[in-house]
Amino acid sequence: MNDKLVVFPGSFDPVTQGHVDLIKRGAALFGSLTVAVLVNNQKNALFTPAERVELLRKALADVSGVTVEQFDGLLADFLKARGARVVLRGVRAAADLEAENRNHWYNSRLLPGLETVYLPAGEEYAYVSSSSVKELYAHGGHLPGLLPEPVAEKLKEKFSK
Ligand code: ADP
Repeated sequence: MNDKLVVFPGSFDPVTQGHVDLIKRGAALFGSLTVAVLVNNQKNALFTPAERVELLRKALADVSGVTVEQFDGLLADFLKARGARVVLRGVRAAADLEAENRNHWYNSRLLPGLETVYLPAGEEYAYVSSSSVKELYAHGGHLPGLLPEPVAEKLKEKFSK
């Protein structure tokens, strides 16, 4: 088991400054971090997995110790294949904690010994989610500070078509 390999999984459709904040803090805390982009449920996603990975790489270009990968299927299987068992998740409101506890309940049954570490969302990003930002941009609302610059540009481009 490689406890040095900490995995931060998510859809990242698209990556927000809330994610970037958590990734930076996670990488600083653990020394390195693997961001794992889930490619399931592609039908509901605005960005393709390749676009989501590319935007993450651009947003994290100046952050050291972070690698970005993609995976399909169960997180537990991805971890098993890597010999990893530590998962990082961010928690905004109480509802996030409940959902994360449920994820952990399943994941730790699929992979005994799996541990989920929660970090609280940065204060400025407590209400930032990929879905609310997409909704905002879809209607021409462009609040500053919520998205890495390449993501803001790409979202404007998507919705101008
Ligand atoms: P998922 O669909 O798996 O929840 P997301 O891409 O929405 O994937 O989120 C990935 C992770 O990032 C989750 O742990 C989520 O709680 C966390 N997260 C999302 N938005 C923020 C934010 N604004 N601040 C901190 N963590 C966040």
